[in-house]
Amino acid sequence: MLMDGKKLLITGVLMDSSIAFHVARLAQEQGAQVVLTSFGRTFKITEAISRRLPQPAPVIELDVQDTEHLDTLADRLGEHVDHLDGVLHSIGFAPKGAFDFMNAPWEDVATALQVSAFSLKALAAAALPRMSEGGSVVGLTLDASYAWPMYDWMGVAKAAFESTSRYLARDLGPKGIRANLVSAGPIATTAAKSIPGFEKFSTWGEHAPLGWDVKDPVPAAQACVALMSDWFPATTGEIVHVDGGYHAMGF
Ligand code: NAD
Repeated sequence: MLMDGKKLLITGVLMDSSIAFHVARLAQEQGAQVVLTSFGRTFKITEAISRRLPQPAPVIELDVQDTEHLDTLADRLGEHVDHLDGVLHSIGFAPKGAFDFMNAPWEDVATALQVSAFSLKALAAAALPRMSEGGSVVGLTLDASYAWPMYDWMGVAKAAFESTSRYLARDLGPKGIRANLVSAGPIATTAAKSIPGFEKFSTWGEHAPLGWDVKDPVPAAQACVALMSDWFPATTGEIVHVDGGYHAMGF
């Protein structure tokens, strides 16, 4: 069992379409103990979805924009786990206005950057007191090397997110903590469907040599679990593409 005895904090389970749901499911199937986070009005939904996991997992409150939630996270985790081996950041949000590149107001851009990029550092710092034995922080990006037909300030936030992961790798490496990202191809989740024009990504599979199924979150989830396992002991600051090979093609 790849994750035997591992204790994981998994953010971002909203529905059973969420990439994080499949990370939690696969990690449990591989022997891990999982604690989920959710916030606000979605908390009860996450609790209900948690019951669809092989073992229903506890859910604790975490809005990454709420300083008190972050400051108390490590203490509240103590009710469920004594330490953490892995943390999954599976959080993304940008207000509608951020998807109009030339007209987006700073307030919308600031929210996108805080929730979708700065939160990686905020989450890692909040979980750090429970990671004294080392561990792995994993997040999800959509390749920020390109300007996509839509995505706009969310794309800029993902560029900041990717850079944040490299700085985390620098600062947490000496503590035995790895920081890596999975660059996933498009997957039809709640967050994705809220992006205006997401359907333009439907041609992804035509350019990906392995093909691509936007309805299948499992390959991205498998990579997240692998990066939280002991099988990437010398890998940090890395971005693993799980996109059917799209990123490597000229068109
Ligand atoms: P999702 O809608 O299922 O999950 C997004 C999660 O972010 C939700 O659980 C939501 O509650 C959480 N969230 C939003 N604001 C938050 C806040 N302030 N505090 C805490 N949590 C908050 O969608 P998903 O596609 O599974 O998204 C997970 C990650 O995968 C995101 O980082 C997303 O950008 C990334 N990603 C998605 C795709 C895709 O096409 N779906 C592709 C590449 C990367």
